[in-house]
Amino acid sequence: MEFIDAATEILESIVPVLDEHPEYEENNVLERLVEPERIVMFRVPWVDDNGEIQVNRGFRVQFNSAVGPYKGGLRFHPTVNLSILKFLGFEQIFKNSLTGMSIGGAKGGSDFNPKGKSDGEVMRFCQNFMSELFRFIGPDTDIPAGDMGVSGREVAYLFGQYKKLSTVHVAVLTGAPMEFGGSLVRKEATGYGLIYILDEALRVRNDSFKDKKVVISGSGNVAIYAAEKAVMMGAKVIAMCDSSGYIHDENGLYIPFIKEIKEVNRGRISDYLNYFKKEDLTAEYIENSVIWNVKCDIALPCATQNELSEESAMIIVSNGTNYVAEGANMPSTLKAINVFLNSNLVYLPGKAANAGGVATSALEMAQRSSRLSWTFEEVDSKLKKIMVNIYKNIDEASKKYGAEGNYVVGANIVGFIKVANAMLAQGV
Ligand code: GLU
Repeated sequence: MEFIDAATEILESIVPVLDEHPEYEENNVLERLVEPERIVMFRVPWVDDNGEIQVNRGFRVQFNSAVGPYKGGLRFHPTVNLSILKFLGFEQIFKNSLTGMSIGGAKGGSDFNPKGKSDGEVMRFCQNFMSELFRFIGPDTDIPAGDMGVSGREVAYLFGQYKKLSTVHVAVLTGAPMEFGGSLVRKEATGYGLIYILDEALRVRNDSFKDKKVVISGSGNVAIYAAEKAVMMGAKVIAMCDSSGYIHDENGLYIPFIKEIKEVNRGRISDYLNYFKKEDLTAEYIENSVIWNVKCDIALPCATQNELSEESAMIIVSNGTNYVAEGANMPSTLKAINVFLNSNLVYLPGKAANAGGVATSALEMAQRSSRLSWTFEEVDSKLKKIMVNIYKNIDEASKKYGAEGNYVVGANIVGFIKVANAMLAQGV
């Protein structure tokens, strides 16, 4: 279903382009595009701390390499299956194309659940996962990175194993730690990029983040750095969540505490309340409830796919929210997206709004190949430029194709044209 939804959304929005370019249909570009170039599926046996043998399933969907080598994250999460990875890989093609860099689309991962696993278990799982994957990837062919459940720690273990098996010793994954080929800003990039593109959408409407109330779903890497940057821009982040519940404080949450809970302690969002003396506590924790009930000016879905239902979208619209920008990949259902598109709010879909992460991966690859390390400011300003550019391109395309302000149409069209032209040029 996830893959069909993603494909449907794209195919519907590129209709005006197909009318203008009959050569795409004449060359069956669409039929070729929806079929992954290659899918690798493999067994990942590993030994847990009790000496028991566990088995998980590993995947890599190498979807499209028309624009450049396969690029996209690895997700370790119990919900991972082929449909999810095909959908994510398909989205990645257009997202990567939108960045303006030469990277094709891929996604991979496993149904391994890192939650509650020891460091040693995570290491052994990563080693066994890479023992199979290594023969299909390389620094100029397929460059994986992190996604949900895969951060710097996992990337390092994966690379450690890759090096044992391959004659290539270049850090084949991006999102690598700084000591061996990583890039400054990569960790912050998806969240910061989300705020940069939204800042541009605000700027052209003579608006800004100043004093805006922001609700962010999730509390992982994307959510944390979106929150940090939003606060730096003068906004108040009033609610964030994890899979158990959300914290809410109309005075604004203190993001360094959330960073410590999630990045250092790998704890739960409810731990936030423990950082305050009873008399100072203005935040509340609400269990098993939808975060989108909290009224805000800006809503940033940064948790996972299909987390925002049609019902939640209607609440967001009726609460007078002006902007929705997606840090996660397809967090809004198709029905929710339609609610947004039929309202007055500005809706920035994930494939444009969260492209900062993969764009900075490409910047990491550029630094690695040149054996140079750019400063934080250099990478950050390149990221900002990329995000502003994406906004301009999707806005222009939405106007050109008669759907002004519809950034789903704008993003899909801009992403599609580059890939389709590359496929045509390269022949069958
Ligand atoms: N997982 C991220 C995404 O969904 C980043 C992928 C990458 O850096 O290759 O775009």
